[in-house]
Amino acid sequence: MTWLDLPADDLFGLDNLPYGVFAPAEGRPRVGVRVGSRVLDLAAVLDDPAFAQPTLNAFMAQGREKWSAARARIRELLTDVAHRDTATPHLHHLTDVRLYLPFEVGDYVDFYASEHHATNLGRLFRPGGDPLTPNWKHLPIGYHGRSGTVVLSGTPVVRPHGQRKSPDAAAPDFGPSQRLDIEAEVGFVVGTGSPAGTPVSVAGFRDHVFGICLVNDWSARDIQAWEYVPLGPFLGKSFATSVSPWVVPLEALDAAWTGLPTRDPEPLPYLADTGKEGLDLALSVRLNGQEISTPPFASMYWSGAQMLAHMTVNGASTRTGDLYASGTVSGPAAHEAGSLIELTRAGAEPLTLSDGRTRTFLEDGDEITITGTAPGPSGTRIGLGEVRGRIHPPRPLT
Ligand code: MN
Repeated sequence: MTWLDLPADDLFGLDNLPYGVFAPAEGRPRVGVRVGSRVLDLAAVLDDPAFAQPTLNAFMAQGREKWSAARARIRELLTDVAHRDTATPHLHHLTDVRLYLPFEVGDYVDFYASEHHATNLGRLFRPGGDPLTPNWKHLPIGYHGRSGTVVLSGTPVVRPHGQRKSPDAAAPDFGPSQRLDIEAEVGFVVGTGSPAGTPVSVAGFRDHVFGICLVNDWSARDIQAWEYVPLGPFLGKSFATSVSPWVVPLEALDAAWTGLPTRDPEPLPYLADTGKEGLDLALSVRLNGQEISTPPFASMYWSGAQMLAHMTVNGASTRTGDLYASGTVSGPAAHEAGSLIELTRAGAEPLTLSDGRTRTFLEDGDEITITGTAPGPSGTRIGLGEVRGRIHPPRPLT
């Protein structure tokens, strides 16, 4: 129960309470928590200077006990009517505030943890061969991305230039990407880091990871296909990676944990799962407002805990603000794929949109919106917000 006027089925009720960074019309960016269609100014209502910072990092660095205490205090403020008069002046309508990138991104890693996505792409990129590489079921494959180009939802995505080489051409040419794609993903945000030489175990996940966000890993498939051998994604993905503005804390996901798909073969002991590390998140991808896919996160082969364990098993340190993304979320069904290259079979089977036009890859002016929900307590749902981006024409070459 809350003294706020909130519908019972609001995706941003008291069981969610995701964190972000906002500024009112007059004022500097500070930390807030979303409730309904409003944001509560935590710098004003909680006695902790970490919330007056323009990123979540100082708060996230405090660790799990402090995260829990802050969440309990926020719930109390929004529940006990005795706090209504003091809290109300610090509740701002989302339409009156500006949102910012919620955390300063440390290192950024992107995984490849969906068996369906990896299989689909393997068939397209390596026809005739085994769709999964020999290592795929033994370790969560990933690459280190470019944290400096992680941007807030809503930031325009300018079509990148690069080298492209079609299979029948003798040499590459240079120009705007003609196969600009999306990847619907879930991002894990590290709260408390880990020192060099100290791997984080699968069970240590909840002490280190603060929460999750939605990610769109924009991908220029033509640039990617030419450059990725043998060292992996580079300029085909580093021009922009969009994240949602609200980081949903793990504590809000208690009802979302589920088992992972069957392991075959069993992974090495450091990757053994503890039974309930999958997350039953439902994603939706819209192109210019029309839903084109509904990727189910519960189908992911590797969990966020396994990804963190693998990422640190060599002794690599982690830091507050590190972001690691799941890789494209694709379910077993055709309409559950999280990228256009899968949905259109590399452009061979265009999507027909409701206005009668067709799409293979993204055109200038197209807008992609990825949303998500998770199970909440007692059959309710909580919202993961949205990550949105519109394609802008390529910059003129000078
Ligand atoms: Mn990706």
